[in-house]
Amino acid sequence: MLRAICGTLIAIGCLFSICARGEEASADLVLYNARVITMTSPNDVHEAIAIAGDRILHVGSTDDVLSLADADTHRINTGGRTILPGFIDPHTHLLNDSWMQGLSPVEAQVLALWNGITTAANLYTTPDGIADSIELAQAGDLRVRFSLYLIDNTSCGDVLGNWYQQYEPLAEVAPRLSIGGVKIFAETSVCEDRPIGISFTEPLRNTLSPAGREWYGDVRPLLTAEELERVVRDASQAGFPVAIHAIGDGGVQVSLDAISDALDGGPNVLRHAILHNLFIRDDLLPRYAELDIVAAIESVTPCFVPFYRDLLRLEDKHIVRRWRDLVESGAHVAANSDWPWCAEEAINPLFRLQALMVPDNRSASYGDWEPCGLLPEDQLLTAWQGLRMMTFEAAYMLHRDHELGTLEAGKLADLVVLSDNPLSVHPDNLTAIEYVMTMVGGVIEWRNPEF
Ligand SMILES: [Zn+2]
Repeated sequence: MLRAICGTLIAIGCLFSICARGEEASADLVLYNARVITMTSPNDVHEAIAIAGDRILHVGSTDDVLSLADADTHRINTGGRTILPGFIDPHTHLLNDSWMQGLSPVEAQVLALWNGITTAANLYTTPDGIADSIELAQAGDLRVRFSLYLIDNTSCGDVLGNWYQQYEPLAEVAPRLSIGGVKIFAETSVCEDRPIGISFTEPLRNTLSPAGREWYGDVRPLLTAEELERVVRDASQAGFPVAIHAIGDGGVQVSLDAISDALDGGPNVLRHAILHNLFIRDDLLPRYAELDIVAAIESVTPCFVPFYRDLLRLEDKHIVRRWRDLVESGAHVAANSDWPWCAEEAINPLFRLQALMVPDNRSASYGDWEPCGLLPEDQLLTAWQGLRMMTFEAAYMLHRDHELGTLEAGKLADLVVLSDNPLSVHPDNLTAIEYVMTMVGGVIEWRNPEF
């Protein structure tokens, strides 16, 4: 009887994870004597993890996990180090703009792996760009998983339209390469030598400095809410999530209005997202959670000190970088780098985590490297909140939370080994933690030679 029950349980287990492995579930690789932080809940911490093929077989005690090993199993004693889900960066330009840091797309992936990143979204993919990415993937040159966002309009506002509909939404088009969604610019971004088009509504425009009014007083969103709604509706009807670039409260408002109207009161099953979200008025804040919109934010922001000091001089500074307000409102908030626009270090998830946790720190700014002093104490987050934004919440935005973002049996074996535990070190010391090893789908893609 007991054997029969066990057999049934093994068969059920098989459904979720280990079917192809045959009836004897043995591990190809075990990592033990570790601190395995699954990121499912703060107290879900284990000693070891077993991997079979490209999937996680089991997370548990060292004894349990070693019992899944046989003569062929590769065993790694981590020496008490910390294991987290591989970091997911849901807004980067690793494929299209790596040249800005003097790197090829292949070299940019190595940089990502050094920083524990196992999945990234590329948020600016043109028709040529997708062809290049598919070629790269087919040549076996993708070492990181990618979700591509295909552009409906350019950062200057030129419309490409729904060319993206020749692809299947959320489908894998080549090994490690998926279609993530559609990128839409509600405001102009980097465009020739013009300043980026941060649009403020009337009440905020009046709080800018005179110089700021000169720069931003006439900037309006690229599209009206009605025009943007048509684009969102068109993408939605074809099954594509959208990610809308919006920095100022004007851009944020048209984006919220457009998504709201396109949803017609229905649920946001496609997980439409808004990117940047730098200026959010009080009346706009609750709408993210109400509409279940994902806010993707970068903690290391283009915080040129002259920009804030001389141009914005907002009287109402509490509307800037409201990361904790967003999290506490119940919205889905994912944290990204937008790399390489920001500082070189901005790709580093631990650097970005520090920028969420420490006020007035250098990590929160770049440019002339003076602290901006713009992340007020009441917007600071905990390490747990920040890490969730870089793992599970980022996977949620990319529709990959069923297979990525936490360490659980049956999910893909994407993980990072760290020299110390980011949940317990002092925030000042987060950037001293070293990346030891990065694994994608059970393959050790990068290992720190120092360890
Ligand atoms: Zn971007």
